[in-house]
Amino acid sequence: MGRKVGIRNLICITGLLLTFIFWGAFIHGLGAGNRSKMEGKIYLVPVGNIESWVLEALKKGIGETFSSKVEIYEKMKFPQRAFNAERNQYFCPHIMNGLQDFIDPGKKDKVLGIVVEDLYIHGLNFVFGQAELGGHFALISLARLHQSFYGLAENKIIFLERTKKEAVHELGHTFGLEHCPDPECVMHFSNSLMDTDRKSASFCARCEELLIKRIKTTD
Ligand code: ZN
Ligand code: ZN
Repeated sequence: MGRKVGIRNLICITGLLLTFIFWGAFIHGLGAGNRSKMEGKIYLVPVGNIESWVLEALKKGIGETFSSKVEIYEKMKFPQRAFNAERNQYFCPHIMNGLQDFIDPGKKDKVLGIVVEDLYIHGLNFVFGQAELGGHFALISLARLHQSFYGLAENKIIFLERTKKEAVHELGHTFGLEHCPDPECVMHFSNSLMDTDRKSASFCARCEELLIKRIKTTD
């Protein structure tokens, strides 16, 4: 659709802070668990090759959380120009822009891109994801959600739980939710995977209420 990500709309850059916080970017949380009805659709866009069991599990989890229709959209070609050979990582804003060029959602729809590659932005050594605050687009990286990334035995249950939290958190931002002080809330800011594992996959009462309000005003 040609619209580029407005820098001030980009929020929720998740990851370890290296030197400074960029754009007031918020580090990331995950989670979900709400019963609001959403009229629009949530599109899951695999950016590159994403295993179907991951997409199917996400579709189910997100659909339950937002009480929404979720559709797995066609695969987007991974934008290789995002690759930074020095870092052996991919520049997140290039992928967000690619996503915005790839799909033109309806007024009430949300789009979640999913990548397996490890992402970064300037000033952070990595990001788990990114989202437009109160917009349509969000993106998550699965790279650091695997136990195997940390040299541990892979565990699908843990991986899927993290993936769902991450997805719900980023989608929460697209509904205008900001980070929440409640450490158990899915919208709580996480600085590391440990924070993510500590928090729940659900919205606290306050975030739930805000979400319902947002969904009503956009429907
Ligand atoms: Zn966030
Ligand atoms: Zn909350």
